[in-house]
Amino acid sequence: MSIRISATLEARMVDGEGRIVCVSCSHPLGPTDQPWKPAATLNELPMKGAGGEVYTAGDDVLLRQFNCPSCGKVLDTETALRGDPFLIDEVDVSALSDS
Ligand SMILES: [Zn+2]
Repeated sequence: MSIRISATLEARMVDGEGRIVCVSCSHPLGPTDQPWKPAATLNELPMKGAGGEVYTAGDDVLLRQFNCPSCGKVLDTETALRGDPFLIDEVDVSALSDS
């Protein structure tokens, strides 16, 4: 059994344990009860100028891309100030262990 938690991630039972995995390549990103973003490859890009001259945010506003360390697919993005902690989504996947 698996539960799709986003367009790029799903919770899946692996060896009797709930794991977050990349949908594209099944690379494991950690247990379902822990944040997965620290297991991803992080790419931080300055937002200043990202949309041309229209976007003139300060140099500390970043676009963070979280990529699969195996296949490289972008798993999620967020905007943040430099040094901010990752935004952590909490998704109820308790139905995974009920099956
Ligand atoms: Zn992948």
